[in-house]
Amino acid sequence: MTNTINTSQRKTDVLIIGGGPAGIQASRMLKTEHPEWDVTVLRPESYSMVYCAIPYALEGLISADKTFKKDELLTEVGVNLLRLKAVKVNAEDYTVDLEDGSSISYSKLFICVGATPIRLPVPGADLPNVYTVKTGEDMIRLMGCLNGGQDFCVSDPADEVPEGLKAVVVGAGAIGLEQATAFRARGAEVHLVEMQNRPLPLML
Ligand SMILES: Cc1cc2nc3c(=O)[nH]c(=O)nc-3n(C[C@H](O)[C@H](O)[C@H](O)COP(=O)(O)OP(=O)(O)OC[C@H]3O[C@@H](n4cnc5c(N)ncnc54)[C@H](O)[C@@H]3O)c2cc1C
Repeated sequence: MTNTINTSQRKTDVLIIGGGPAGIQASRMLKTEHPEWDVTVLRPESYSMVYCAIPYALEGLISADKTFKKDELLTEVGVNLLRLKAVKVNAEDYTVDLEDGSSISYSKLFICVGATPIRLPVPGADLPNVYTVKTGEDMIRLMGCLNGGQDFCVSDPADEVPEGLKAVVVGAGAIGLEQATAFRARGAEVHLVEMQNRPLPLML
């Protein structure tokens, strides 16, 4: 059962902005330790993602729906899930304004909004076929490019990518290497670009 908040009385003991791993873990821990507390998670997306699984879905090793987390992770322990974006924190009066024009009051606030990919600060970075890899939308766009325009390419992992597909992956960190591996495994010609003199430069 999904726990929803009565919009006429938006008020919670603990408000957590962000439904990624940090928000999920914090809310579950708080609700488990303090069942009497009202704990609310704000998450604008209709699902939480297992980001680590995106490369496996792109490679066709798992189906895309395996990258989505179930809301029950939150609701089964009694956490309220509100599918809205926070647009302003009013710390002085302990409220957060929401994208639908309403607000919610809290006693404690956790900010677990994660990070967004850095877009390349170069001309052309906004052209079509230039992708970042973070969200479910990113994954679906990349699957579209791998599968000739269709959203999901994993129904038959043996499918070939469109003939002559070339991919340039900028950044040889862990995520870049995984993307390069996934595209290569799908048969694309892959070029990996790194400004340091080695892959995984922040680790090796
Ligand atoms: C392709 C890829 C592969 C990865 N592989 C691995 C791996 O193998 N191992 C590993 O340990 N880590 C991996 N990571 C990193 C890992 O996914 C992140 O470290 C982790 O997701 C961070 O969790 P988080 O909860 O802090 O933030 P996020 O997961 O980014 O979640 C933030 C949440 O906050 C929400 N939010 C943002 N702004 C607002 C707002 N104003 N109002 C309401 N909600 C908001 C977002 O919509 C999102 O739901 C990978 C990441 C990617 C992208």
